[in-house]
Amino acid sequence: MTFHVLTIFPEFFAGPFEHGVVARAKEAGLVSIRIHNLRDWTSDRHKTVDDRPFGGGEGMLLKPEPVFQAVESIWPDRKPGEAERKVVLLSAQGRRFDQSTAERLGAVSELLLICGRYEGVDERVASHLADEELSIGDYVLSGGELAAAVVVDVIARRITGVLGNEDSAVHESFSQSDRILDCPQYTRPAEFRGLRVPEVLLSGNHEQIRRWRRQAALDKTGRLRPDLLRQPAPDCRMDKEIGK
Ligand code: SAH
Repeated sequence: MTFHVLTIFPEFFAGPFEHGVVARAKEAGLVSIRIHNLRDWTSDRHKTVDDRPFGGGEGMLLKPEPVFQAVESIWPDRKPGEAERKVVLLSAQGRRFDQSTAERLGAVSELLLICGRYEGVDERVASHLADEELSIGDYVLSGGELAAAVVVDVIARRITGVLGNEDSAVHESFSQSDRILDCPQYTRPAEFRGLRVPEVLLSGNHEQIRRWRRQAALDKTGRLRPDLLRQPAPDCRMDKEIGK
């Protein structure tokens, strides 16, 4: 899968994509990440990418021309609504990015992420260029770069072959068919400062362990994220389990 990132701070991405899973996925050729400098598509001497908002107000906005030109020159033959290549605008006003969005977008072959800055981006980018406007949470970042790094990381680690063990992605938080949290996990030592690991995990009884994990995951979800239990589960399994 190929990710394109359009930004005025290309150096920002020297960090996030050079470590761990994403770096290994790039080395293995499973993921390609191309960082594009928005200023390459400006035509004036100062490489201006921003301008004042019509109607007044604080701050500056990213101008539409360089953003449209960048996307049109990265994908000259792209047609609107194309299924294999999607343009995403990172925005505090977007739909919330979550694991199911990551699964859906992970199915396309190329994704182009537009990083806003300043007070945001001229609305014509959202309405006439981007296929989707996505937010990574209900807070305001100072730029789309951190959000783009989050989106690339979440999608890349789900690509087949990126994680060593394919099961890792299946049994994670939000990834099971009912989208609850992962169960609590423990490693050695079995006793640490008087705190013992639940005995069942040391028992070697795989069926009991499986059942304990399931219940512990439900308990933790109920405690920390009860909103997840209230969502309708895709296979309706949750209702039965909560009721028992
Ligand atoms: N004035 C805007 C915020 C602009 S913040 C508003 O109130 O909605 C500048 C840029 O940071 C945005 O254009 C967007 O690209 C990015 N950004 C800010 N918060 C974000 C979030 N929660 N998710 C994704 N991108 C975000």
